[in-house]
Amino acid sequence: MTGTIFDKGLHGRSGKYIPENDCPVDEALLPIQRKSSLGLPRIAEQGVIRHYMELASKNYHIDKGIYPLGSCTMKYNPVVNEEIARDNSFCGLHPAQDEADVQGALELIFNLQEALCEICGMDSFTLQPAAGAHGELTGIMIARDYFRERGEDRKFVIVPDSAHGTNPASVSTCGFTPVTLKSDERGMINPADLKEIISSETAVLMLTLPNTLGLFERDIGKIVKIAHDAGVLIYMDGANMNALMGIVQPGKIGIDIMHLNLHKTFSTPHGGGGPGSGPVGVREHLSAFLPIPGVVKKMDNFEFSWGSEKSIGKVHSYFGNFNVFVKAYAYICRLGAEGLREVSENAIINANYLMELVGRFYDVKYPGPCMHEFVASAVNLKEHGVSTLDVAKRLLDYGVHAPTVYFPLIVKEALMIEPVETEKKETLDSFAEIMEKISYEAANNPDLLHEAPVSTPVRRLDEAYAARNPDFRWHERK
Ligand SMILES: *Cc1c(COP(=O)(O)O)cnc(C)c1O
Repeated sequence: MTGTIFDKGLHGRSGKYIPENDCPVDEALLPIQRKSSLGLPRIAEQGVIRHYMELASKNYHIDKGIYPLGSCTMKYNPVVNEEIARDNSFCGLHPAQDEADVQGALELIFNLQEALCEICGMDSFTLQPAAGAHGELTGIMIARDYFRERGEDRKFVIVPDSAHGTNPASVSTCGFTPVTLKSDERGMINPADLKEIISSETAVLMLTLPNTLGLFERDIGKIVKIAHDAGVLIYMDGANMNALMGIVQPGKIGIDIMHLNLHKTFSTPHGGGGPGSGPVGVREHLSAFLPIPGVVKKMDNFEFSWGSEKSIGKVHSYFGNFNVFVKAYAYICRLGAEGLREVSENAIINANYLMELVGRFYDVKYPGPCMHEFVASAVNLKEHGVSTLDVAKRLLDYGVHAPTVYFPLIVKEALMIEPVETEKKETLDSFAEIMEKISYEAANNPDLLHEAPVSTPVRRLDEAYAARNPDFRWHERK
Protein backbone atom coordinates (compact mmCIF):
# COMPACT_ATOMS: atom_id res chain seq x y z
CA MET A 1 0.00 0.00 0.00
CA THR A 2 1.37 3.41 -0.86
CA GLY A 3 0.86 6.69 0.93
CA THR A 4 2.53 8.47 3.79
CA ILE A 5 2.95 6.89 7.18
CA PHE A 6 0.11 9.14 8.37
CA ASP A 7 -2.25 7.67 5.79
CA LYS A 8 -1.47 4.21 7.13
CA GLY A 9 -2.32 5.06 10.73
CA LEU A 10 -5.57 4.21 12.47
CA HIS A 11 -6.95 5.92 15.52
CA GLY A 12 -6.14 4.03 18.70
CA ARG A 13 -3.40 1.97 17.16
CA SER A 14 0.03 2.39 18.67
CA GLY A 15 3.49 0.94 18.79
CA LYS A 16 4.46 2.27 22.17
CA TYR A 17 4.19 0.70 25.58
CA ILE A 18 4.66 3.58 27.95
CA PRO A 19 3.02 3.20 31.37
CA GLU A 20 0.63 5.82 32.67
CA ASN A 21 2.39 8.67 34.40
CA ASP A 22 2.22 8.08 38.17
CA CYS A 23 4.39 11.06 39.11
CA PRO A 24 2.69 14.07 40.62
CA VAL A 25 2.03 16.78 38.08
CA ASP A 26 3.44 20.19 38.93
CA GLU A 27 0.45 22.54 39.07
CA ALA A 28 2.57 25.41 37.83
CA LEU A 29 3.15 23.59 34.56
CA LEU A 30 -0.51 22.88 33.84
CA PRO A 31 -1.16 26.09 31.91
CA ILE A 32 1.53 25.25 29.37
CA GLN A 33 0.64 21.58 29.09
CA ARG A 34 -0.18 20.50 25.54
CA LYS A 35 -3.95 20.14 25.10
CA SER A 36 -4.11 18.72 21.61
CA SER A 37 -2.43 15.58 20.38
CA LEU A 38 1.02 15.74 18.84
CA GLY A 39 -0.37 14.47 15.56
CA LEU A 40 2.01 11.53 15.34
CA PRO A 41 1.05 8.69 13.02
CA ARG A 42 -1.03 5.99 14.76
CA ILE A 43 0.82 2.93 13.66
CA ALA A 44 2.11 -0.27 15.26
CA GLU A 45 5.72 -1.33 15.26
CA GLN A 46 5.44 -3.80 12.39
CA GLY A 47 3.63 -1.19 10.32
CA VAL A 48 6.49 1.22 10.86
CA ILE A 49 9.07 -1.30 9.74
CA ARG A 50 7.08 -2.32 6.66
CA HIS A 51 6.53 1.31 5.74
CA TYR A 52 10.24 2.11 5.76
CA MET A 53 11.20 -1.12 4.04
CA GLU A 54 8.73 -0.26 1.29
CA LEU A 55 10.25 3.19 0.90
CA ALA A 56 13.76 1.74 0.89
CA SER A 57 12.83 -0.70 -1.85
CA LYS A 58 11.54 2.18 -4.01
CA ASN A 59 14.86 3.87 -3.72
CA TYR A 60 17.64 3.27 -6.20
CA HIS A 61 21.00 2.68 -4.63
CA ILE A 62 24.41 1.22 -5.27
CA ASP A 63 23.47 -2.07 -3.62
CA LYS A 64 20.72 -2.50 -6.22
CA GLY A 65 22.54 -1.93 -9.47
CA ILE A 66 24.94 0.05 -11.64
CA TYR A 67 25.25 3.77 -10.91
CA PRO A 68 27.13 5.13 -13.92
CA LEU A 69 27.08 8.74 -12.73
CA GLY A 70 30.08 10.25 -14.51
CA SER A 71 32.32 12.47 -12.40
CA CYS A 72 30.43 11.53 -9.27
CA THR A 73 31.84 8.08 -8.71
CA MET A 74 29.06 6.43 -6.77
CA LYS A 75 31.03 3.22 -6.60
CA TYR A 76 30.85 0.24 -4.36
CA ASN A 77 32.45 1.13 -1.05
CA PRO A 78 33.43 -1.89 1.04
CA VAL A 79 31.00 -2.19 3.93
CA VAL A 80 33.78 -3.39 6.22
CA ASN A 81 35.23 0.12 6.10
CA GLU A 82 31.95 1.51 7.41
CA GLU A 83 32.10 -0.98 10.26
CA ILE A 84 35.64 0.03 11.12
CA ALA A 85 34.74 3.72 11.07
CA ARG A 86 31.82 3.03 13.42
CA ASP A 87 33.98 1.26 15.98
CA ASN A 88 33.54 2.93 19.31
CA SER A 89 37.27 3.43 19.72
CA PHE A 90 36.96 5.97 16.89
CA CYS A 91 33.40 7.21 17.38
CA GLY A 92 33.79 7.61 21.11
CA LEU A 93 36.57 10.19 20.78
CA HIS A 94 36.07 13.89 21.25
CA PRO A 95 38.09 16.21 19.01
CA ALA A 96 39.05 18.38 21.99
CA GLN A 97 40.62 15.48 23.89
CA ASP A 98 44.22 15.70 25.02
CA GLU A 99 46.78 14.68 22.40
CA ALA A 100 48.25 12.16 24.81
CA ASP A 101 44.91 10.32 25.07
CA VAL A 102 44.25 10.03 21.34
CA GLN A 103 47.60 8.88 20.02
CA GLY A 104 45.96 6.17 17.89
CA ALA A 105 43.69 8.64 16.12
CA LEU A 106 46.58 11.03 15.52
CA GLU A 107 48.68 8.17 14.19
CA LEU A 108 45.90 7.32 11.75
CA ILE A 109 45.72 10.94 10.55
CA PHE A 110 49.50 11.08 10.22
CA ASN A 111 49.69 7.80 8.32
CA LEU A 112 46.89 8.87 6.00
CA GLN A 113 48.70 12.15 5.24
CA GLU A 114 51.82 10.11 4.44
CA ALA A 115 49.94 7.59 2.29
CA LEU A 116 48.28 10.36 0.25
CA CYS A 117 51.71 12.01 -0.24
CA GLU A 118 53.01 8.72 -1.60
CA ILE A 119 50.02 8.07 -3.86
CA CYS A 120 50.15 11.60 -5.26
CA GLY A 121 53.90 12.26 -5.20
CA MET A 122 53.33 15.37 -3.08
CA ASP A 123 55.38 16.58 -0.11
CA SER A 124 52.61 17.38 2.36
CA PHE A 125 48.87 17.05 2.72
CA THR A 126 46.18 18.71 4.79
CA LEU A 127 43.08 16.68 5.58
CA GLN A 128 41.00 19.67 6.67
CA PRO A 129 38.81 20.57 3.67
CA ALA A 130 35.37 19.00 3.85
CA ALA A 131 34.72 18.44 0.12
CA GLY A 132 36.21 18.71 -3.34
CA ALA A 133 35.13 22.28 -3.95
CA HIS A 134 36.36 23.21 -0.47
CA GLY A 135 39.74 21.68 -1.36
CA GLU A 136 39.85 23.78 -4.53
CA LEU A 137 39.20 26.93 -2.53
CA THR A 138 41.90 25.94 -0.03
CA GLY A 139 44.39 25.28 -2.83
CA ILE A 140 43.67 28.58 -4.56
CA MET A 141 44.02 30.41 -1.21
CA ILE A 142 47.45 28.81 -0.86
CA ALA A 143 48.39 30.09 -4.32
CA ARG A 144 47.07 33.56 -3.45
CA ASP A 145 49.21 33.79 -0.32
CA TYR A 146 52.23 32.35 -2.14
CA PHE A 147 52.14 35.16 -4.71
CA ARG A 148 51.35 37.74 -2.05
CA GLU A 149 54.47 36.72 -0.17
CA ARG A 150 56.54 37.04 -3.32
CA GLY A 151 55.07 40.46 -3.93
CA GLU A 152 53.65 39.40 -7.28
CA ASP A 153 50.35 40.79 -8.39
CA ARG A 154 48.75 38.06 -10.46
CA LYS A 155 45.03 38.22 -11.09
CA PHE A 156 44.09 35.42 -13.44
CA VAL A 157 43.55 31.69 -13.21
CA ILE A 158 43.37 29.75 -16.46
CA VAL A 159 40.64 27.10 -16.38
CA PRO A 160 40.13 24.86 -19.44
CA ASP A 161 36.55 24.45 -20.65
CA SER A 162 36.92 20.74 -19.90
CA ALA A 163 37.35 21.44 -16.17
CA HIS A 164 34.82 20.62 -13.49
CA GLY A 165 32.23 23.36 -12.96
CA THR A 166 33.32 23.98 -9.39
CA ASN A 167 36.78 25.16 -10.54
CA PRO A 168 35.88 28.60 -11.92
CA ALA A 169 33.55 29.08 -8.95
CA SER A 170 36.36 28.41 -6.46
CA VAL A 171 38.64 30.78 -8.39
CA SER A 172 36.11 33.63 -8.23
CA THR A 173 35.31 33.01 -4.58
CA CYS A 174 38.99 33.48 -3.81
CA GLY A 175 39.13 36.82 -5.63
CA PHE A 176 40.85 35.72 -8.85
CA THR A 177 39.39 36.06 -12.33
CA PRO A 178 38.93 32.79 -14.22
CA VAL A 179 40.00 32.78 -17.86
CA THR A 180 38.59 30.02 -20.05
CA LEU A 181 40.93 27.99 -22.21
CA LYS A 182 39.13 26.23 -25.05
CA SER A 183 40.04 22.61 -25.59
CA ASP A 184 41.03 21.48 -29.07
CA GLU A 185 39.46 18.90 -31.37
CA ARG A 186 41.00 16.12 -29.28
CA GLY A 187 39.18 17.44 -26.20
CA MET A 188 42.52 18.42 -24.71
CA ILE A 189 44.64 21.47 -24.04
CA ASN A 190 46.67 22.56 -27.01
CA PRO A 191 50.03 23.89 -25.76
CA ALA A 192 50.03 26.58 -28.46
CA ASP A 193 46.67 27.91 -27.22
CA LEU A 194 47.93 27.92 -23.66
CA LYS A 195 51.02 29.87 -24.67
CA GLU A 196 48.82 32.49 -26.22
CA ILE A 197 46.77 33.33 -23.14
CA ILE A 198 49.32 32.77 -20.37
CA SER A 199 51.06 35.89 -19.06
CA SER A 200 52.95 37.37 -16.13
CA GLU A 201 49.51 38.15 -14.67
CA THR A 202 48.50 34.49 -14.60
CA ALA A 203 48.66 32.98 -11.12
CA VAL A 204 47.46 29.43 -11.62
CA LEU A 205 46.66 26.94 -14.34
CA MET A 206 43.84 24.82 -12.94
CA LEU A 207 43.55 21.43 -14.60
CA THR A 208 41.01 18.73 -14.04
CA LEU A 209 42.96 15.53 -14.61
CA PRO A 210 41.63 13.37 -16.13
CA ASN A 211 39.47 16.14 -17.58
CA THR A 212 35.68 15.97 -17.59
CA LEU A 213 35.76 14.20 -20.95
CA GLY A 214 37.58 11.39 -19.15
CA LEU A 215 40.79 12.19 -21.04
CA PHE A 216 44.35 12.48 -19.81
CA GLU A 217 46.18 15.53 -21.16
CA ARG A 218 48.53 14.07 -23.76
CA ASP A 219 50.74 17.16 -23.72
CA ILE A 220 51.05 17.40 -19.96
CA GLY A 221 54.86 17.69 -20.17
CA LYS A 222 54.71 20.71 -22.48
CA ILE A 223 51.81 22.23 -20.53
CA VAL A 224 53.74 22.04 -17.27
CA LYS A 225 56.81 23.61 -18.86
CA ILE A 226 54.89 26.51 -20.37
CA ALA A 227 53.20 27.22 -17.03
CA HIS A 228 56.33 26.96 -14.90
CA ASP A 229 58.38 29.05 -17.34
CA ALA A 230 55.81 31.80 -16.80
CA GLY A 231 56.06 31.47 -13.00
CA VAL A 232 52.55 29.99 -12.90
CA LEU A 233 51.50 27.38 -10.32
CA ILE A 234 49.71 24.28 -11.56
CA TYR A 235 46.65 23.12 -9.68
CA MET A 236 45.26 19.67 -10.34
CA ASP A 237 41.66 18.79 -9.56
CA GLY A 238 42.24 15.16 -8.57
CA ALA A 239 38.69 14.33 -7.50
CA ASN A 240 38.81 11.37 -9.84
CA MET A 241 42.14 9.95 -8.74
CA ASN A 242 40.55 6.51 -9.20
CA ALA A 243 41.88 6.80 -12.77
CA LEU A 244 45.50 7.44 -11.78
CA MET A 245 46.40 5.62 -8.57
CA GLY A 246 49.63 3.69 -8.89
CA ILE A 247 49.98 4.93 -12.47
CA VAL A 248 50.66 8.66 -12.20
CA GLN A 249 52.06 10.56 -9.22
CA PRO A 250 50.95 14.10 -10.04
CA GLY A 251 53.68 15.71 -7.91
CA LYS A 252 56.29 13.94 -10.03
CA ILE A 253 55.01 15.43 -13.27
CA GLY A 254 55.09 18.99 -12.01
CA ILE A 255 51.73 19.51 -10.31
CA ASP A 256 52.20 22.03 -7.47
CA ILE A 257 48.84 21.77 -5.69
CA MET A 258 46.06 19.22 -5.90
CA HIS A 259 43.01 17.97 -4.08
CA LEU A 260 41.46 14.55 -3.75
CA ASN A 261 37.90 13.54 -3.00
CA LEU A 262 38.06 10.86 -0.34
CA HIS A 263 34.30 10.64 -0.88
CA LYS A 264 34.81 9.41 -4.42
CA THR A 265 38.00 7.48 -4.74
CA PHE A 266 38.64 6.37 -1.16
CA SER A 267 35.65 4.50 0.15
CA THR A 268 33.07 7.07 1.11
CA PRO A 269 30.08 7.37 -1.23
CA HIS A 270 29.72 10.66 -3.06
CA GLY A 271 26.30 12.21 -3.16
CA GLY A 272 25.23 10.83 0.17
CA GLY A 273 24.84 14.30 1.63
CA GLY A 274 28.12 14.16 3.50
CA PRO A 275 30.30 14.19 5.39
CA GLY A 276 33.03 14.22 2.79
CA SER A 277 36.69 15.10 2.68
CA GLY A 278 38.77 16.96 0.10
CA PRO A 279 42.43 16.75 1.23
CA VAL A 280 44.89 19.14 -0.42
CA GLY A 281 48.45 18.16 -1.24
CA VAL A 282 51.29 20.52 -2.14
CA ARG A 283 54.92 20.36 -3.13
CA GLU A 284 57.58 21.51 -0.74
CA HIS A 285 57.71 25.16 -1.81
CA LEU A 286 54.07 25.52 -0.71
CA SER A 287 54.04 23.37 2.43
CA ALA A 288 54.30 26.34 4.78
CA PHE A 289 50.99 27.71 3.47
CA LEU A 290 48.88 24.66 4.36
CA PRO A 291 46.01 25.09 6.82
CA ILE A 292 46.58 24.32 10.50
CA PRO A 293 46.66 22.07 12.39
CA GLY A 294 48.38 19.16 10.73
CA VAL A 295 49.68 16.11 12.56
CA VAL A 296 53.42 15.44 12.92
CA LYS A 297 55.47 12.66 14.45
CA LYS A 298 58.00 13.62 17.15
CA MET A 299 60.07 10.65 18.31
CA ASP A 300 57.36 8.07 19.00
CA ASN A 301 54.61 10.60 19.63
CA PHE A 302 52.05 12.19 17.39
CA GLU A 303 51.05 15.77 17.90
CA PHE A 304 49.29 18.65 16.21
CA SER A 305 51.55 21.06 14.41
CA TRP A 306 50.47 24.65 14.40
CA GLY A 307 52.49 25.35 11.32
CA SER A 308 54.29 28.44 10.22
CA GLU A 309 53.17 32.05 10.17
CA LYS A 310 52.57 31.66 6.46
CA SER A 311 49.70 29.19 6.98
CA ILE A 312 46.38 30.25 5.45
CA GLY A 313 44.86 29.38 8.85
CA LYS A 314 41.97 27.10 9.53
CA VAL A 315 39.45 25.97 6.91
CA HIS A 316 37.50 23.55 9.10
CA SER A 317 36.82 23.11 12.80
CA TYR A 318 39.38 20.89 14.52
CA PHE A 319 41.12 18.83 11.81
CA GLY A 320 38.43 17.79 9.32
CA ASN A 321 36.01 14.90 8.99
CA PHE A 322 37.77 12.15 10.88
CA ASN A 323 35.24 9.43 10.16
CA VAL A 324 35.97 9.72 6.42
CA PHE A 325 39.71 9.44 7.12
CA VAL A 326 39.18 6.14 8.92
CA LYS A 327 37.42 4.64 5.90
CA ALA A 328 40.05 5.98 3.48
CA TYR A 329 42.88 4.65 5.63
CA ALA A 330 41.25 1.23 5.97
CA TYR A 331 40.77 1.14 2.20
CA ILE A 332 44.39 2.07 1.45
CA CYS A 333 45.80 -0.39 4.01
CA ARG A 334 43.71 -3.26 2.73
CA LEU A 335 44.49 -2.72 -0.94
CA GLY A 336 48.14 -1.70 -0.68
CA ALA A 337 50.07 -0.18 -3.56
CA GLU A 338 49.28 -3.01 -5.97
CA GLY A 339 45.61 -3.08 -5.08
CA LEU A 340 45.24 0.65 -5.63
CA ARG A 341 46.86 0.36 -9.03
CA GLU A 342 44.46 -2.45 -9.87
CA VAL A 343 41.52 -0.23 -8.90
CA SER A 344 42.62 2.34 -11.47
CA GLU A 345 43.39 -0.23 -14.14
CA ASN A 346 39.96 -1.79 -13.72
CA ALA A 347 38.24 1.61 -13.74
CA ILE A 348 40.00 2.41 -17.02
CA ILE A 349 39.36 -0.90 -18.76
CA ASN A 350 35.70 -0.88 -17.71
CA ALA A 351 35.19 2.61 -19.11
CA ASN A 352 36.91 1.81 -22.39
CA TYR A 353 34.96 -1.42 -22.80
CA LEU A 354 31.66 0.32 -22.18
CA MET A 355 32.60 3.24 -24.45
CA GLU A 356 33.18 0.79 -27.27
CA LEU A 357 29.75 -0.84 -26.78
CA VAL A 358 27.76 2.36 -26.22
CA GLY A 359 29.64 4.05 -29.07
CA ARG A 360 27.94 1.68 -31.53
CA PHE A 361 24.60 3.40 -30.96
CA TYR A 362 25.47 6.84 -29.64
CA ASP A 363 27.84 9.59 -30.67
CA VAL A 364 31.21 9.63 -28.95
CA LYS A 365 32.82 12.88 -30.04
CA TYR A 366 36.15 12.21 -28.34
CA PRO A 367 36.78 8.50 -28.77
CA GLY A 368 39.78 8.38 -26.47
CA PRO A 369 41.08 5.93 -25.28
CA CYS A 370 39.49 7.27 -22.12
CA MET A 371 40.44 7.01 -18.49
CA HIS A 372 37.79 6.26 -15.82
CA GLU A 373 34.84 7.71 -17.75
CA PHE A 374 33.70 8.78 -21.19
CA VAL A 375 31.20 11.20 -22.63
CA ALA A 376 28.66 9.92 -25.14
CA SER A 377 25.92 12.00 -26.71
CA ALA A 378 22.34 11.41 -27.80
CA VAL A 379 22.72 14.05 -30.51
CA ASN A 380 22.22 11.33 -33.15
CA LEU A 381 18.69 10.72 -31.79
CA LYS A 382 17.70 14.36 -32.39
CA GLU A 383 16.32 13.43 -35.81
CA HIS A 384 13.65 11.38 -34.00
CA GLY A 385 12.90 14.26 -31.67
CA VAL A 386 14.53 12.43 -28.77
CA SER A 387 16.80 14.16 -26.27
CA THR A 388 19.35 13.06 -23.71
CA LEU A 389 16.80 13.72 -20.98
CA ASP A 390 14.42 11.23 -22.64
CA VAL A 391 17.15 8.60 -22.76
CA ALA A 392 18.05 9.20 -19.11
CA LYS A 393 14.40 8.90 -18.04
CA ARG A 394 13.88 5.74 -20.07
CA LEU A 395 16.88 4.12 -18.38
CA LEU A 396 14.93 4.35 -15.12
CA ASP A 397 12.20 2.18 -16.63
CA TYR A 398 14.82 -0.47 -17.25
CA GLY A 399 15.82 -0.33 -13.61
CA VAL A 400 19.21 1.33 -13.92
CA HIS A 401 20.39 4.71 -12.72
CA ALA A 402 20.92 7.35 -15.39
CA PRO A 403 24.39 8.74 -16.10
CA THR A 404 25.27 12.39 -15.53
CA VAL A 405 23.51 14.37 -18.26
CA TYR A 406 24.17 17.68 -20.04
CA PHE A 407 27.64 17.88 -18.53
CA PRO A 408 30.32 18.70 -19.56
CA LEU A 409 28.84 21.65 -21.42
CA ILE A 410 31.26 21.28 -24.35
CA VAL A 411 29.41 18.18 -25.57
CA LYS A 412 25.88 18.65 -26.88
CA GLU A 413 23.30 16.28 -25.37
CA ALA A 414 26.01 14.83 -23.16
CA LEU A 415 25.74 11.50 -21.37
CA MET A 416 28.70 11.28 -19.02
CA ILE A 417 29.21 7.63 -18.16
CA GLU A 418 31.46 6.19 -15.47
CA PRO A 419 31.03 2.47 -14.83
CA VAL A 420 33.69 2.35 -12.02
CA GLU A 421 36.10 -0.45 -11.28
CA THR A 422 33.84 -2.80 -9.38
CA GLU A 423 31.21 -3.56 -12.06
CA LYS A 424 31.61 -6.93 -13.73
CA LYS A 425 31.52 -7.53 -17.48
CA GLU A 426 27.95 -8.91 -17.45
CA THR A 427 26.66 -5.71 -15.80
CA LEU A 428 28.40 -3.56 -18.41
CA ASP A 429 27.01 -5.76 -21.20
CA SER A 430 23.50 -5.47 -19.88
CA PHE A 431 23.78 -1.69 -19.46
CA ALA A 432 24.99 -1.43 -23.08
CA GLU A 433 22.12 -3.65 -24.25
CA ILE A 434 19.62 -1.36 -22.55
CA MET A 435 21.24 1.66 -24.21
CA GLU A 436 20.93 -0.14 -27.54
CA LYS A 437 17.26 -0.94 -26.96
CA ILE A 438 16.58 2.69 -26.12
CA SER A 439 18.22 3.82 -29.35
CA TYR A 440 15.82 1.50 -31.26
CA GLU A 441 12.88 2.79 -29.31
CA ALA A 442 13.93 6.33 -30.19
CA ALA A 443 13.73 5.49 -33.89
CA ASN A 444 10.53 3.40 -33.76
CA ASN A 445 8.48 4.74 -30.89
CA PRO A 446 9.80 8.12 -29.80
CA ASP A 447 6.63 8.88 -27.81
CA LEU A 448 7.49 6.07 -25.45
CA LEU A 449 10.66 7.94 -24.60
CA HIS A 450 8.90 11.28 -24.21
CA GLU A 451 6.56 9.63 -21.69
CA ALA A 452 9.29 7.90 -19.71
CA PRO A 453 9.62 6.97 -16.95
CA VAL A 454 6.39 4.98 -16.82
CA SER A 455 7.28 2.39 -14.19
CA THR A 456 8.75 4.48 -11.37
CA PRO A 457 6.90 5.58 -8.20
CA VAL A 458 6.81 9.13 -9.55
CA ARG A 459 6.87 10.15 -13.19
CA ARG A 460 8.79 12.97 -14.81
CA LEU A 461 9.15 15.74 -12.28
CA ASP A 462 9.39 19.45 -12.85
CA GLU A 463 12.90 19.68 -11.46
CA ALA A 464 13.16 23.46 -11.60
CA TYR A 465 9.87 23.84 -9.71
CA ALA A 466 10.95 21.36 -7.05
CA ALA A 467 14.23 23.20 -6.53
CA ARG A 468 12.61 26.61 -6.30
CA ASN A 469 9.61 25.65 -4.19
CA PRO A 470 10.82 22.96 -1.85
CA ASP A 471 8.09 21.49 0.34
CA PHE A 472 9.53 19.20 2.96
CA ARG A 473 6.63 19.07 5.36
CA TRP A 474 3.64 16.81 5.55
CA HIS A 475 0.41 18.71 6.01
CA GLU A 476 -2.57 17.02 7.60
CA ARG A 477 -5.46 16.68 5.18
CA LYS A 478 -8.40 18.55 6.56
C1 LIG B 1 33.00 15.87 -7.76
C2 LIG B 1 34.03 16.73 -8.32
C3 LIG B 1 34.33 17.97 -7.73
C4 LIG B 1 33.55 18.55 -6.56
O1 LIG B 1 33.60 17.77 -5.41
P1 LIG B 1 32.56 18.04 -4.23
O2 LIG B 1 33.03 17.18 -3.11
O3 LIG B 1 31.22 17.64 -4.75
O4 LIG B 1 32.63 19.50 -3.89
C5 LIG B 1 35.34 18.71 -8.29
N1 LIG B 1 36.00 18.29 -9.38
C6 LIG B 1 35.73 17.11 -9.97
C7 LIG B 1 36.51 16.69 -11.18
C8 LIG B 1 34.74 16.29 -9.47
O5 LIG B 1 34.46 15.13 -10.08
